Amino acid sequence: MDYYSSHINKLIEQLSHLPGIGAKSAQRLAFHIMSMPSDQVELLTGSIRDARQNVRYCKSCFTLTDQELCPICANENRDHHTIMVVENTRDLAAYEKTGKYEGVYHVLHGAISPMLGVGPDDIRLKELITRLQTEDVTEVIIATNSSLEGETTAMYISKLIKPSGIRVSRIASGVPVGGDLEYIDEVTLLRALEGRIDL
Ligand code: ZN
Repeated sequence: MDYYSSHINKLIEQLSHLPGIGAKSAQRLAFHIMSMPSDQVELLTGSIRDARQNVRYCKSCFTLTDQELCPICANENRDHHTIMVVENTRDLAAYEKTGKYEGVYHVLHGAISPMLGVGPDDIRLKELITRLQTEDVTEVIIATNSSLEGETTAMYISKLIKPSGIRVSRIASGVPVGGDLEYIDEVTLLRALEGRIDL
């Protein structure tokens, strides 16, 4: 690709490191950015920098937020006795969009995958257990994806929590196997939540 300037090559390379962006998309984006007015490019780079510098993990549920406690954990009207465990902040957002879930969340930031060498210590699982020991929790709803990794994680968490006597449930299998939660429509999500089964 040495027929482009090295600046453009560098930009294409950086963009192609982003998830879901292949070489072709990276090229298309790079040329699009080149055609944007400079002030718009400033806005884009500035917002990336701002977000990266100011966003942190909620100290309770570990979702991405810019406060010490995210708005959901800080909301006294939410049911703090029910914790829904999700793999990432996008899954949390998917459930929030339904507007029907009143509990709080715990974001694992991943799922256990022996194949990829991701173990229980590599996700925010210890933090969940600490919450269960220090907070008054009556139910943990496991809403990890229905992929192999999601199921493995659900089983692992369930075995870990069950001896404590806390109710552990799993969202129903209305969610297609291998489907990412964030791509599933709200009705399906709600059905999965309402039809959850005790583990
Ligand atoms: Zn939170």
